[in-house]
Amino acid sequence: MPLSLPTATDHEDIRTAVRALCADFPAEYWRRLDETAAYPEAFVDALTRAGWLAALIPQEYGGAGLGVAEASIILEEINRAGGNSGACHGQMYNMSTLLRAGSEEQKRRILPRLAAGELRMQSMAVTEPTTGSDTTRLKTTAVKKGDRWVIDGQKVWTSRLQHSDLMILLARTTPLAAVSKRSHGLSVFLVDVPAALTAGMTVRPIRNMVNHETNEVFFDGLEIPAENLIGREGEGFRYILEGLNAERTLIAAECIGDGRWFVDKAVAYGNERVVFGRPIGQNQGVQFPIAQAHIRIEAASLMRFSAAALHDAGKPCGAEANMAKLLAADASWEAANACLQTFGGFGFAAEYDVERKFRETRLYQVAPISTNLILAYVGEHVLGLPRSY
Ligand SMILES: Cc1cc2nc3c(=O)[nH]c(=O)nc-3n(C[C@H](O)[C@H](O)[C@H](O)COP(=O)(O)OP(=O)(O)OC[C@H]3O[C@@H](n4cnc5c(N)ncnc54)[C@H](O)[C@@H]3O)c2cc1C
Repeated sequence: MPLSLPTATDHEDIRTAVRALCADFPAEYWRRLDETAAYPEAFVDALTRAGWLAALIPQEYGGAGLGVAEASIILEEINRAGGNSGACHGQMYNMSTLLRAGSEEQKRRILPRLAAGELRMQSMAVTEPTTGSDTTRLKTTAVKKGDRWVIDGQKVWTSRLQHSDLMILLARTTPLAAVSKRSHGLSVFLVDVPAALTAGMTVRPIRNMVNHETNEVFFDGLEIPAENLIGREGEGFRYILEGLNAERTLIAAECIGDGRWFVDKAVAYGNERVVFGRPIGQNQGVQFPIAQAHIRIEAASLMRFSAAALHDAGKPCGAEANMAKLLAADASWEAANACLQTFGGFGFAAEYDVERKFRETRLYQVAPISTNLILAYVGEHVLGLPRSY
């Protein structure tokens, strides 16, 4: 039987509640943060207090026990309101690894405190400077010494670390030369961030194109307790991969939110701005790119709901999640360009927010997975073409 997909008007209760919360954090709030490269503390606090960041935590651990479909709507609405979920979405994505692979003791110890807002687990350290998208060749090692793991190596682009109490870390526990498959011998750890900062972990912020708190991280003999291993030693890459379908679907939702923001802005300006004695939106050269972007966003939204419905039904959704991410990232980027073009020169003025959102949505062509790597996934795993890398 085909899955019945939510439509743009389903979950109206969630949309309305998240919109109401976002209304307290208008464009000026996000603009000021962008100008000062500051973290949206007040917004993240409000979102946590309202329970939205605990959407994916099961009710038995104090969360809302919602699915990825509902979580995607929360993030979509934040971006649609002009905000940037990138400041806090990590907590939703990282949940997946802990929920699937964590021990009952770890879940009982951590999840209720995350749900209550006493702890933040916003950060995941996977990418490394010398290996990039070739994740299984990463060089950070974890070596067991008695009841401790000793971590050495380096990560890059570890986001929200300065606003996290806990970080999820992927490190190699069996040397590459000693495993039968490159994806074996990697393990996932929970790192207590404040403790690590005084015991061998150093953080260096990366100034970047958007207001995104992200860092280089260095591990020099960092010791963490043996019980901080998540799941089984050597199977960490699989745990991370399993969590990625939720991540891709949620990122798609953020792009859809961005795309809708751009279209709304472009339509309003196209109707209001009069040049040559008529609204600019009356010109087909202005109108059609906006209409085109709208159509692509609606199509991407359907693929997002398709991925979310499969995920929440416990079915394989790798193809749909990856396709949703690519379609949505392309649609939001197209909408960003149509919007900037509609605004003409004023699109470059910070006070209209278009240039800020333009920079923010551009990120999703590259992170958390670049467009080429999605095409490679679909070519190989969906279509059966030879592996290209
Ligand atoms: C703002 C920001 C925040 C981030 N946050 C995090 C985070 O919190 N945690 C984390 O672990 N990572 C994070 N990342 C890293 C992100 O996941 C990577 O940047 C992304 O996966 C691409 O890897 P790379 O930058 O090393 O590019 P590379 O792997 O060096 O690739 C460079 C380019 O070459 C292309 N390319 C490479 N190989 C192939 C191939 N075989 N075929 C075709 N094209 C190819 C890629 O598509 C890309 O366009 C973040 C990145 C940014 C910019």
